[in-house]
Amino acid sequence: MSLLIQDLHACIPDREILKGFSLEVKPGEVHAIMGPNGSGKSTLSKVLCGHEDYEVTSGSVTLDGEDLLAMDVDARSRAGLFLAFQYPFEIPGVSNANFIRAALQARLPKGEELDAVGYYKQLYRRMDELEMSRSFTARSVNEGFSGGEKKRNEILQLMMLEPKYSILDETDSGLDIDALKVVSQGVNAMRSPERGFLVITHYQRLLDYIKPDIVHVMVEGRLIRSGGPELALELEAKGYELTHAA
Ligand code: ADP
Ligand code: MG
Repeated sequence: MSLLIQDLHACIPDREILKGFSLEVKPGEVHAIMGPNGSGKSTLSKVLCGHEDYEVTSGSVTLDGEDLLAMDVDARSRAGLFLAFQYPFEIPGVSNANFIRAALQARLPKGEELDAVGYYKQLYRRMDELEMSRSFTARSVNEGFSGGEKKRNEILQLMMLEPKYSILDETDSGLDIDALKVVSQGVNAMRSPERGFLVITHYQRLLDYIKPDIVHVMVEGRLIRSGGPELALELEAKGYELTHAA
């Protein structure tokens, strides 16, 4: 049981971006990936979710033993993978409540109907935890949301879908300190022995709230170092350059 990434190589038409990336996230673990801009962190998250811009040229990814790369995007989601985007998409014309409801409905066996009363109860409970106004249920997904509201909304989706493996791509960027605390509490509430997290961030600050078990440094498409939470503090103090040389 794990999200197992082995020697993954992925490219866009003229360039290789992931150059032998390997990592195993087991249920119950929180891994943090830090690294300079352009090192391929967002590319990794998008490749795992099946973004069509990227071609996987070699390596493998399995989710609890199943070949993730062979699955369509929706199958990856239903298998238990979730990505909180660095830059969440706006979906005009689709209300937030209907969007999440459709995603949950799509997880049910054919012919089974999601219980609407139970759904809204859970939605409101999660929104309260994230200190989101009820008005966000009727608004189109992310349309006109501030940067921080979009990030909160990504975590709302995470809390509603209850994925086995969650990737958070710079969820902290665009959040002020109060919002960061609320969002981190939301993520921490979802931590359990059954769930794994991959938290991508530039800054140690997020890791004060979402405490990782293991910290990795990504440079130029692969991991160059791994360590305990203290590695994040070292990076904050010394920057990535020294780490790279070390
Ligand atoms: P990070 O998230 O670590 O900052 P990214 O994964 O976003 O890095 O990007 C890694 C490199 O790949 C960057 O140089 C970026 O410009 C390039 N890149 C990523 N996706 C694309 C794409 N779809 N088309 C062109 N270049 C891309
Ligand atoms: Mg990125």
